[in-house]
Amino acid sequence: MSEYQHRARKRFGQNFLHDAGVIHRILRAIHAREGEHMLEIGPGQGALTEGLLHSGAQLDVIELDRDLIPILQGQFGDNPRFRLNQGDALKFDFNQLEAAPHSLRVVGNLPYNISTPLIFHLLNNAALIRDMHFMLQKEVVERLAATPGGGDWGRLSIMVQYHCRVEHLFNVGPGAFNPPPKVDSAIVRLVPHEVLPHPAKDHRLLERVVREAFNQRRKTLRNTLKNLLAADAIEAAGVDGSLRPEQLDLAAFVRLADKLAEQSIAD
Ligand code: SAM
Repeated sequence: MSEYQHRARKRFGQNFLHDAGVIHRILRAIHAREGEHMLEIGPGQGALTEGLLHSGAQLDVIELDRDLIPILQGQFGDNPRFRLNQGDALKFDFNQLEAAPHSLRVVGNLPYNISTPLIFHLLNNAALIRDMHFMLQKEVVERLAATPGGGDWGRLSIMVQYHCRVEHLFNVGPGAFNPPPKVDSAIVRLVPHEVLPHPAKDHRLLERVVREAFNQRRKTLRNTLKNLLAADAIEAAGVDGSLRPEQLDLAAFVRLADKLAEQSIAD
């Protein structure tokens, strides 16, 4: 570690991992190998970076906090497989990494305030990505990995599961971080599908149907979707309009979105 003592900054969501056992367990789950192209988002003081580089992989990192740049450069700058990108991962153009299709392996102990928009930004580039491993707030991981029928199943679960297989790997308590966050965390693995299992005719219409349906999750679909689809159109999509949105699986939402697409063409 550098002689320079970096003070964790709240506004950058800095909770640095310091538990060697937890770091090792995360690195084992990621299992980076020589020749792979890894991308670490928010390397911080390098808790995961060291092990990722040790694997022999090519490693790009994106760090927003300028004060951490000299620390990272000092620790890893001599390694020709290490490339440091200073900036905001939410605005980063992943094409500049020149990764082969389905090759990029993304890793990050993410600041909780940017985790959802960042996952969506990455999913816009899903064709480049082989897999993603993130440390997130435990509740967010539960929503990502949820199945229909429960309170965690919602917009985030559906839009992420449209693109990816999701695995909730393990939980991590606050004591593994410095400073400790107020919430429990968990590690999730997201693997983009090479072929979408339920492709929608128009992805934007799927987003719209899902957003509208979950705006009022206690109401029936017939009620919440009435501005988009008539009751008979819902039935024609093979969906029972008296159900509530949390009872519908991804395939049913895609059928509703496709019905809306047909309707838009007919209009
Ligand atoms: N990976 C380190 C670890 O596990 O100890 C640090 C994790 S800390 C929770 C999150 C890191 O993301 C911090 O280093 C923070 O400066 C960085 N960060 C915050 N917002 C970011 C953004 N928009 N783009 C890139 N990095 C960001």
